[in-house]
Amino acid sequence: MQVDTLIHARWILPVEPTGTILTQHSLAIRDGHISALLPGTEARAHCQADQVIELPQHLLMPGLVNAHTHSPMSLLRGIADDLPLMPWLQEHIWPAEARWVSAQFVADGTRLAIAEMIRSGTTCFNDMYFFPDATAQVAAEIGMRAVVGLILLDAPTAWATDAAGYLAQAQTVHAALHDEPLITTAIAPHAPYTVSDALLRDAIAHHALPARVHMHVHETADEVQDSLTQYGMRPLQRLQQSGLLHDQLLAVHMTQLTGAEIAQLATTGAHVVHCPESNMKLAAGACPVQQLLTAGVNIALGTDSAASNNDLDMLGECRTAALLGKHVAQDAQAVDAEQVVRMATINGARALGLADQIGSLQPGKAADVIALDLGQPATQPVYHPLSHLVYSATRNQVSDVWIAGQRQLANGQLTHLDISALQTQAAQWQARISSSGT
Ligand SMILES: [Zn+2]
Repeated sequence: MQVDTLIHARWILPVEPTGTILTQHSLAIRDGHISALLPGTEARAHCQADQVIELPQHLLMPGLVNAHTHSPMSLLRGIADDLPLMPWLQEHIWPAEARWVSAQFVADGTRLAIAEMIRSGTTCFNDMYFFPDATAQVAAEIGMRAVVGLILLDAPTAWATDAAGYLAQAQTVHAALHDEPLITTAIAPHAPYTVSDALLRDAIAHHALPARVHMHVHETADEVQDSLTQYGMRPLQRLQQSGLLHDQLLAVHMTQLTGAEIAQLATTGAHVVHCPESNMKLAAGACPVQQLLTAGVNIALGTDSAASNNDLDMLGECRTAALLGKHVAQDAQAVDAEQVVRMATINGARALGLADQIGSLQPGKAADVIALDLGQPATQPVYHPLSHLVYSATRNQVSDVWIAGQRQLANGQLTHLDISALQTQAAQWQARISSSGT
């Protein structure tokens, strides 16, 4: 069998079927896809490859799927910390965005975010921000897989001035991205407290827009209380009445949930995106992950932006999700390592409508693959590679990354991005933003 790349690994975690760890196996890549997953001895005897990669102390697994972020906000990393959500947004983030957000800001911020994401094993991200056309263009140029949120908001910004303007921009960007192989789209109404019922209705009635919906929902107790005051109902009920509670909704955060709402999410097939570190840092509340899992709700994992986290480290997020999930459930068996890895891979793919392409290592799927070096002292000895992945390893152990068969990280080095150019750009933005006092 002739293939492009043949990877021999000590351990392979395909994620599907559940509970499988393969030892001394090989993964073959051809035309950007996984063409075979087979025992190493068989691969060495029968495969001819243009490139052979030996990973003798590594774990090979599907690339991580960051199911919620705002990549350009990496340029605002560390600008304001240690505040609750609304003061943080109203006094720091929104003023800085009003002053600085532009297509160039978004392009530069996205490039910085993608460098961090690839370096830490993320091969697909679900984004929500202004100038999504710029995010898509940068991701496509680099070869990063992305779902670009077509943001909708009832407030004027540099991207659009009113509801009709946001809808028109969304339609234009969606149409322009039709033929990008690594980029798909979702509508992204920002949050129940920033989007009117009229805009929600117009967005879902708009036949030229995608059906998938990416939205912050029930992030804080105040959000729910304000909605009760203003609309006489909780935000999730508002979404249901607007026709948004369905199996293409990605409801991000969900820290405030009743038993009835959990059952409703399970019945409708809506997806929850859990962002534990952002929730903890903003003291927003805690998503009842184990209860959602027990109810059968699909839960994906996201970092949120680097301004509220303050990193885009999905391995770190996995560890936090496992620890916080146990703490919230008061049960050491809750939210186990395997469930967390599924959240960060196949569940994210499913939430994004990409489960037939990514999220597990199966022949026919895209070759979105990462390797972690478990040979370091911090991850020795290895009884259970899955345990190390969630509880011991750090992102610095990600050694290699392929996206659609393209090697994006080789022995820890980015192959499509210039780190010193990124540093220069980031420093220029920091100097500009700092000098303006925002
Ligand atoms: Zn967010």
